[in-house]
Order: sequence, then C-alpha cells, then structure tokens
Amino acid sequence: MSKKVRVRFAPSPTGGLHLGGVRTVLFNYLFAKNQGGDFIVRIEDTDQGRFVAGAEEYIFNTLKWCGLEPDESPVHGGPYAPYRQSERKENYRQYAEQLVKDGYAYYAFDTPAELEEMRNRFKTPENPSPQYNQVLREKMRNSLTLEKDEVARLLNESVPYVVRIKMPLNETISFTDMIRGEVSFNTSQVDDKVLLKADGMPTYHLAVVVDDYLMKITHAFRGEEWLPSAPVHLLVWKYLGWEKDMPQWAHLPLILKPDGNGKLSKRDGDRLGFPVFAMDWTDPKTNETTIGFKERGFLPEAFVNLLAMLGWNDGTDKEIFSLPELIEKFTIERVHKGGAKFDYEKAKWYNHEWIKLSEVSQLAVAVKQAFLDKQIAVTDEALLKKVIELVKDRCTLLADFVQQGSFFFQSPASIDTDTIKPKWDEKKNMFFTELIRAYELSTLWETADLEKEFKELAAANQLKTGELMLPFRIMLVGGKFGPGVFDIAATIGKQETIKRIAHTLQLLQSS
Ligand code: GLU
Repeated sequence: MSKKVRVRFAPSPTGGLHLGGVRTVLFNYLFAKNQGGDFIVRIEDTDQGRFVAGAEEYIFNTLKWCGLEPDESPVHGGPYAPYRQSERKENYRQYAEQLVKDGYAYYAFDTPAELEEMRNRFKTPENPSPQYNQVLREKMRNSLTLEKDEVARLLNESVPYVVRIKMPLNETISFTDMIRGEVSFNTSQVDDKVLLKADGMPTYHLAVVVDDYLMKITHAFRGEEWLPSAPVHLLVWKYLGWEKDMPQWAHLPLILKPDGNGKLSKRDGDRLGFPVFAMDWTDPKTNETTIGFKERGFLPEAFVNLLAMLGWNDGTDKEIFSLPELIEKFTIERVHKGGAKFDYEKAKWYNHEWIKLSEVSQLAVAVKQAFLDKQIAVTDEALLKKVIELVKDRCTLLADFVQQGSFFFQSPASIDTDTIKPKWDEKKNMFFTELIRAYELSTLWETADLEKEFKELAAANQLKTGELMLPFRIMLVGGKFGPGVFDIAATIGKQETIKRIAHTLQLLQSS
C-alpha cells in the first residue's frame, strides 16, 4: 500500500503573506486534496530574531479567507503536535549530536569576532565574502582542527559552539524535482551551514528535515528561492539515514513583475498601485499598513482561481475554476517550469467573472461590509439582495457595489445638473412635473408599470422617451450610471422616486 500523501506549508512568521506564498499553499493543498491526502501547516519560528508579532495569526486568517483550511496545524491540532518549531526545541539536538558522532557534522567554537576576522583576512576582489567551507574550516577553531582533549575541555566548560554540517568536497548530488526533473549540485558550491545554534535552537536547515521526517511528509511544494538549500537538506536526510523517507520536492517558479523582469515584490505593488499581499498587513514596528487583495475588494474564489492560473492550467482554454474543480483537475505535470508574469488587469478580470458567477446570497456579507466601509449601514437585507442582483454584472471590485449602488440606500450626494441643463426646457420641466403627479396616483409600482406610464406620458406630451431617460436617470442616481432606470425607481419606491425628481426640478429651477 502506498503511503498517505502528506504535504506541508512551512512559513516563517515574519510578515504579511505575499501572493507567491499563498500560491505555494494552494499548490500544496490542491495536490494533497487531489490525492486524498493531508495538508499540514507548520510554523518555522526558530529564528527568534526574525519573529514578528501577529504574523502567525495573519497567516491563519488568510488561509481561512481563502478556504484553504489545514488538516493539522498549531491552531487545528493534530497527531504530530506541537506544530510550532519553537515548541519542539528538544527534538533537534539529538539529531545534531548524531550527525557529529557519525562524522557528518562538527562543533565550531569560533566567536563572532573570529568569524569576522576570517572574512576580512580571506576576502579578495573575486570572493568578497568568504564562507566557512571545505577549505576555510581547516583554519578555524572546530572539532575537526582542535585536539580531542581541547574539544572535550571546551564542551565541558560550556564554551558556546554551533554545529555545522561537514560538506563534502567536489561531490555531485542530485534529486528529482517534481517540476524541474533532475537537479544536480556540486557540494563545493555549498558552505558548511550551521545546523544547531549556540542557543540550542536548530537552524531552518536542520529543523525542516527533522520535522518533515517526524511528521511523515511525503511531498512538498515550496518557492524556487529554496532550491539552493536543497543540497544541504538532501545530505542531512542522507546522513541521518532517512533517505528513503525523503519527501518529493517541487520548487515552484517565481511570480514575476508585470514586465517579466524579476520577482514580483511588495514594492512593485506600491509603485504600480496593486496589492501583493493576500490581506491587509500592518507592520507592528512601523505601523504601516500594506493593502491586501481582500480589502481591495477581491472575492476569495477569484483570488484562489487567479493564483492557480499563475503557473498552472488544465491543458484547455478554461480559465474559471472553483476550488473543488481545481482539486479535481490539479496535476503536477501541468505546472509550468518558467516564471509566471503577474497581470493586475487580468486579476481584476477574474474577480469580475466571479462576481457575475456568484449567487446573490454568497455576495451579501462582503457587499454589506463594502457599504459599511463607506459609512453606509445596510439594514434592509431584502433590498441589499435586490441591489446586488441589479448591479453585480457591472462590478469588478467589491467597492464598485458602493459606487454603483449607494443611491439605493441614500439620496445621491450630488446631482449632475450640468449634464441635464444644455437640453433642458419648459416642455421637459412640465413632463417631469406631470410624471410626479402620475406616479403619485400609481397603484402599481413594478418596473414594467413605471416604464409604461412614463412612455405614455411622453407620447401624450409629444416627447421622445430617449431624451427623457438621461435626465430621469440623473435625478434618481446623481449621474450617468447604474442599472435600468425603471428598475431603480421600482426598487427605491414611490416616495423616494418622487422626492428625487422634485429635488432635481428645484435645483434646475434655482440655477
Ligand atoms: N520556513 C521556510 C519559509 O519561510 C520554508 C521553506 C520550505 O518550505 O522548506 O518559507
């Protein structure tokens, strides 16, 4: 029987989640769910210096919003708890010690000053930052160069040390990446990375291997920026004797700037005016808030859909996929090897399509919030649903519902009389005055009745309906926009329709 698929997303809680990070989550999730497997979130917080308050909570809020709920995590619990590496500190030392005992790692006693001195001494124009590696380790104070007794004495006296991996010289190691195929490295290109720090905390390189092993991870998608770390991980897997349990790796190509020149960064978003983070992120140090897709007015369905298409397709022209469809269709073979250019206009297109596709009831909560964000409290749920139905085909972002629909809930803040005036005359004034009277007497208040009455009155006054529609629209909504004008009148009701016509007539008279 083959092993149950278990994938993990292993973020370090250092700030807001970039859309590339959410895409990593998504691909892990889709693969796991497609295979009937588990999706695990493990928080990699061993680097206390980079810890940022609130970042972990933000990650889980983002996953919730996207509908990508983990099966196991520090929040969801699970059989391999704890899922925060800082709470697993005791697990790691024994493996570092095992590696030292077996000759694959060593103790290094060099002080920060000594390391600095080494870098200065061996720096050349060709090699401006010399590394602790196969060659330079020979010149440093470690358990490979010091006498056995001296090492024992230092350990005994609790002199601080780190454990470093002993990288072999000039060996080729390789693995098969699920996206890239065979990837090879020469070990001489890699330095002797620290595995265990002086404070007893593991570094990422040790913790990631130990936890992927202990948590029985079978596959993992991660960003391409982790590819240079792969040789270190491969050797740790091998040296700990776990090679046959090593997960299968997939290093995802980058999400590129719109012009295709390099990795998309938060700064590109700031510069070009689009979000790069999933949700608003407020940096606790600077108090600066970076806008997220959610707050910009994206639906989670659209966000997930557009991320899936950044580097994947199902082999057809189909672009709109729900999460269940993505789960069903996802295959690694169709993940692209090259980077995917981010196109904000296309991202908005996905949102527009999803707004059109969504049921009114699905949109209601988010649209209500969009109104509230603009200080419009919506209390009439039935009216809200009606409005959503009327304007949703015209909306790209959630805020567009406010722009397209606020006049349903309150009188327009201003009336564009300047557009009405050039073609305004006494005949039209008469028409609308009569219209008020006719509507006042109306016993029926449905779209078709209102339209019929309007047209009959126009005909009786020998006026063309076409010339009257624009002023009527402006009277009701304030400008040249919105859905069908008789739908609007039917929705806002008799009293409000009459009030708005009368108000505009007054404005036109007094100007
Ligand atoms: N903790 C790493 C990060 O911050 C995880 C890399 C990996 O998935 O191995 O993204």
